[in-house]
Amino acid sequence: MTCPADDDDCPVVPAASEKPPVPDHVQEAIRTLIRWAGDDPAREGLLDTPARVARAWREYCAGYAEDPAIHLARQFEEVGGYNEIVVLKDIPFQSHCEHHMAPITGKAAIAYLPRDKVVGISKLARVLHGYARRLQIQERLTAEVAQCIWDNLRPHGVAVVIEAQHGCMTGRGVRTPGVGMVTSRLYGTFLSDPRSRKEVLSLMGY
Ligand SMILES: [Zn+2]
Repeated sequence: MTCPADDDDCPVVPAASEKPPVPDHVQEAIRTLIRWAGDDPAREGLLDTPARVARAWREYCAGYAEDPAIHLARQFEEVGGYNEIVVLKDIPFQSHCEHHMAPITGKAAIAYLPRDKVVGISKLARVLHGYARRLQIQERLTAEVAQCIWDNLRPHGVAVVIEAQHGCMTGRGVRTPGVGMVTSRLYGTFLSDPRSRKEVLSLMGY
């Protein structure tokens, strides 16, 4: 399906040279963490690290500054008689786990069965990123994305499947690289009708 007027209403992005200032107490916290990890925050290679880490975390967690539902505000009723499932697959994302602040990297598939309205297809990915750019657990991320689409688009059905690797598992603890976790959340007809569920999951590649 081609996408209806999938415009990118791009906000004004500050030039890369305009680095936001990082308060001293935030930098000091990161120096404390470097000492705790066993290194010397005063050595040359680490001098600018606290400010860099602080800015990076603002980016990783940029989702706190937005309400992801805003991406679904612009809806289109002219769907040319299209009344089948809409699927966006293999959407790469990065998040951070709230237990270790370690990276969660993976891909999501998002599907819905429109009732009378659709959104630009990239908006589904924006909803995902709005929730992923926070401290998360994969189960909640999956549920929040599905709930947001369910509440705002009021479709007949929503399905979200997320497959991800957790840095806290691959890089520490049990150290099991390559192990992925799969979570899903279904609403409406995808939940209540087994045939509809089978169809959507197969379209999503599951
Ligand atoms: Zn973790």
